[in-house]
Amino acid sequence: MPADLHIHTNFSDGLLSPEEVVKRSAKAGLTAIAITDHDTVDGVARGIDEAQKAGIKLVPALEFTTDVPGTEIHILGYFIDHKAAWLLELLKKIRDDRVNRVHKIVEKLKKLGVNIDADEILKLADLGSVGRPHVARVLLQKGIVKSIQEAFNRYLDFNAPAYVPHFRLSPEEAIRTIIKAKGIPVYAHPAVSRRDEMIPELVAAGLAGIEVYYSRHSDFQVKHYLGIANKYGLLVTGGSDFHGLGTERDVMLGDVKLSDDLFKKLEESVIK
Ligand code: AMP
Ligand code: ZN
Ligand code: FE
Ligand code: FE
Repeated sequence: MPADLHIHTNFSDGLLSPEEVVKRSAKAGLTAIAITDHDTVDGVARGIDEAQKAGIKLVPALEFTTDVPGTEIHILGYFIDHKAAWLLELLKKIRDDRVNRVHKIVEKLKKLGVNIDADEILKLADLGSVGRPHVARVLLQKGIVKSIQEAFNRYLDFNAPAYVPHFRLSPEEAIRTIIKAKGIPVYAHPAVSRRDEMIPELVAAGLAGIEVYYSRHSDFQVKHYLGIANKYGLLVTGGSDFHGLGTERDVMLGDVKLSDDLFKKLEESVIK
């Protein structure tokens, strides 16, 4: 009875609605999933109703982008109180700055000779968190790039000329925020962020788990992070990071499956 604990919906940069994600997850034989949208929990409520109908478990969750020089560290928060007013207020502040950032990206693109309309980008994300993938999709639609990957390589990547950061918490602040909202903080796709040296300080701030199983982790990396989980007594999680078909990632729902046993350990760690 496997779980996929890393899934995006159209409340951030995924393509499917929470309802569709739940239906397709049930069809794929998953018994538990987590909706982990970027900087929002607004899709969770809709998923929960549908999950009840479909007879699968839906874990309220989110994925914070955090502020680290030279890379991005993403922190997942599982079983988070998705109704806490103070949390919703904080997330709104982050999302509002994501909107400001789109205008800044459009300005930078203009200086590079690329003219696209901010409103068109914002319309693609009218439900929730607007991000670079939405900008990439408009660049693709307009024929300015031939693929999402090209949009990132030429314009949007960390080191590319139209990159703009948005307001975000430090990793430690994200961890403490998740704990305050009764959630379980987990270091997402550590082999993508490549900041193993920061793990001890994250653990000191309250990090409780690490995403060992991930669609872009090699067998070697899985082994490596199992060792780290063991060393620091961290929970082991896993997920596909599904964003929808035809997005920049060629990953399906349930491509990464977390065993029942590991899911149970996570469930048992929930702060009551
Ligand atoms: P944002 O949260 O707006 O900064 O966008 C981050 C999202 O963009 C990630 O979750 C990925 O879905 C996508 N992304 C980031 N870097 C790349 C890349 N190099 N190629 C394709 N997609 C990327
Ligand atoms: Zn994403
Ligand atoms: Fe991520
Ligand atoms: Fe993600």
